[in-house]
Amino acid sequence: MSNMEDLLQRNARFAATDARDRLPKVPFVPNRQLYVITCLDPRVDPVFIFDLSFGDAIVARTLGGRVTPAVIQDLAWISYLHEVKAPDADWFDLAVVHHTGCGIGFADKALRRGFAERGGDDVALADLAVFDPTQTVPGDVETLLNTPQVSSKIKISGHAYDVETGLLTTVVPPRSRGDG
Ligand SMILES: [Zn+2]
Repeated sequence: MSNMEDLLQRNARFAATDARDRLPKVPFVPNRQLYVITCLDPRVDPVFIFDLSFGDAIVARTLGGRVTPAVIQDLAWISYLHEVKAPDADWFDLAVVHHTGCGIGFADKALRRGFAERGGDDVALADLAVFDPTQTVPGDVETLLNTPQVSSKIKISGHAYDVETGLLTTVVPPRSRGDG
């Protein structure tokens, strides 16, 4: 049985609220000037971690919160839109968030072998593994800082989220490519 019936009722209740009155003035410039890249793990929901409301942030979620070519392409497009369509609007902070307890499945060779047997790329998967967020976040921040299509006005930072305590620790303080 599908959960969709209940979810559509939830949507009807949402649509009846005034949440949409708080939409960002410019669609790609979120209310809180925040762009988050984090893991698709449901324990790492940015809405709760940053105590956000509707329209506050752009959120990109990938396996491990890793910065992939697809993530970079989306960010490059948002950068371009911002430069061309809203050059006078404030620029956003971009937070890369990796978390504890993420690499458990990756570490299991048998699981990865099973994935490879059904056609998955277990080597690429292993490269994305986050065992210690403080070790993986700096490299992903560096990748973004070194990508010319990402505006030099965006302040990029890296953080480790502890799923046990709910606390974020800053691993790489905010900086932009323009800072040198
Ligand atoms: Zn994860």
